[in-house]
Amino acid sequence: MSKLLQTLIEASVLSQEDARKLEEEISSSAETEEEAILRKKIFPEKSLFELKGEITGFPFKLVETEEVLLKALEFIPEESAKYYKMVPLKIEGNTLDVGMVFPEDLKAQEVLDFLARQNRFSYKIYLISLTNFYEIIKQYGTLKQEFSKALESLEGEMNEEKKSKVAAPADSRPLSEDAPVIKMVAVILKYAVDGEASDIHIEPMRDKSRVRYRIDGNLHASIFLPSKTHPSIVARIKILSNLKIDETRVPQDGRFSTTVHNKEIDFRVSTFPTSLGEKVVMRVLVPGEQAATLEDLGFDGRNLKLVKDSIQKPFGLILATGPTGSGKTTTLYTLLDILNKEGVNIVTLEDPIEYFMKGVNHSQIRPDIGYGFAEGLRSILRQDPDIIMVGEARDEETGNLVMHAALTGHIVLSTLHTNNAVGVIPRLIDMGIPPFLIPSALTATIAQRLVGALCPHCKKKKENISQDLINIFEKELASIPQDLKSELDFSFGELYDAVGCKKCNWRGYKGRIGLYEVLEMTEELSKLAINPNLSEDLLVAEACRQGMITIRQDGLIKALRGKTSVEEVLRAGEEM
Ligand SMILES: [Zn+2]
Repeated sequence: MSKLLQTLIEASVLSQEDARKLEEEISSSAETEEEAILRKKIFPEKSLFELKGEITGFPFKLVETEEVLLKALEFIPEESAKYYKMVPLKIEGNTLDVGMVFPEDLKAQEVLDFLARQNRFSYKIYLISLTNFYEIIKQYGTLKQEFSKALESLEGEMNEEKKSKVAAPADSRPLSEDAPVIKMVAVILKYAVDGEASDIHIEPMRDKSRVRYRIDGNLHASIFLPSKTHPSIVARIKILSNLKIDETRVPQDGRFSTTVHNKEIDFRVSTFPTSLGEKVVMRVLVPGEQAATLEDLGFDGRNLKLVKDSIQKPFGLILATGPTGSGKTTTLYTLLDILNKEGVNIVTLEDPIEYFMKGVNHSQIRPDIGYGFAEGLRSILRQDPDIIMVGEARDEETGNLVMHAALTGHIVLSTLHTNNAVGVIPRLIDMGIPPFLIPSALTATIAQRLVGALCPHCKKKKENISQDLINIFEKELASIPQDLKSELDFSFGELYDAVGCKKCNWRGYKGRIGLYEVLEMTEELSKLAINPNLSEDLLVAEACRQGMITIRQDGLIKALRGKTSVEEVLRAGEEM
């Protein structure tokens, strides 16, 4: 019997008999001892590997994936890394730190010895856990190799450049137009599209340049590049987006489009001066993505019906509210997409334009030359529009123009920054809009937040639902009118946890889903709004009495339907 099993028996974690059974099972399957112990949840993973560290004498290490440098990954081919479950972690001088799940495996040791002789490095072995191994192995992949190749030629070129600059300074081209830089930037963009990232951050650090990707709302540290390559990469991106290359002290905004995998993709670029150099953030705007349906975005039941009804009306204002990054623009684009039919004139005023839609007249506002939302809206109204989208009704003048447009026979879509849906009522009154006008102009208000959608491949039914959790549900859902409750048709006890699998990159979540609160403006609400002692609580209570589902309620109902986890809903709730 193995030392590991013996130790577990001594520690009374396993009985003699169970250990023998386990041993038998393992011998007739491809599974290792560690995998079987973890699958059967006999012992927690971290403790198991700490114990294994003690038995084998290899130091156990928990590796942060961001610590793994791209450069190190070249020393062990991906196939060997996967097969023997060993990953390079760091290269210093010519010593490679290697993380291994099975350092005692003689075959793996042999392969490592061979690679070390061939590539002339010495190595130091650390024991890592299985989960950690899978996290790190994600860093591999052909794109990583592309990165290495691009980096290699970029560094080579930069050394050449240095030499030639000394020889013939007058003749040298700007480095940013050189092929290796172009290639490097192309690889950075391609990686974003392949990984379905929404943003790319390229930021200068003290001794390196960091490239990070935002995937499903979270920033992942991915690649580090040598500091000296940073200015050339930034310059290349500025050239692409028509920004001033020599201006590095003030922020600049621009955009460009390029072809990735035969698809035309837009990138919105913004530069920002930091004490260490310029930081670049690029938003990836994948065309066609906005063509999702309202159902895809997570609208259902009463919310879906209200929103669908609101765009059927011949005129009126539809407002989306929520913090930055809550998906307001996506919701408005989805509505525009439904409204975008032959024979209607759609004009937008945006800052910035996030997607281009066929048949829609997009217009970028330019406050610096006196073309703001208000000025733009005035000229748009002379363009005989049917449907108008105004990026944001941020000031009194724009707010009034938007209301006026809605009252004079246009469908107007816009956004406001308020925490919840009823918050737009006091906000509009603050802007000087008479309360009695609000019900006739405002058709619907959609407040929203985004949360992670549970990966359908690995989500797991919660086994124990605590009384605390039951209390949260009962308290939150109490204000839903009884008839609506039965209509909503959710049953208690169907809650799921995020787990993590290959299909969701071990995140447990795949994509995001919106939580919504749709407010239908009514006479009763506007009467309440005239009251000088107007309080938002009062408005919320009245709206709920009329059947409004709050964001939190929508979230909890979505959790009961297994679309997201309670943890995600509560986390989003903290931001409110
Ligand atoms: Zn999964």
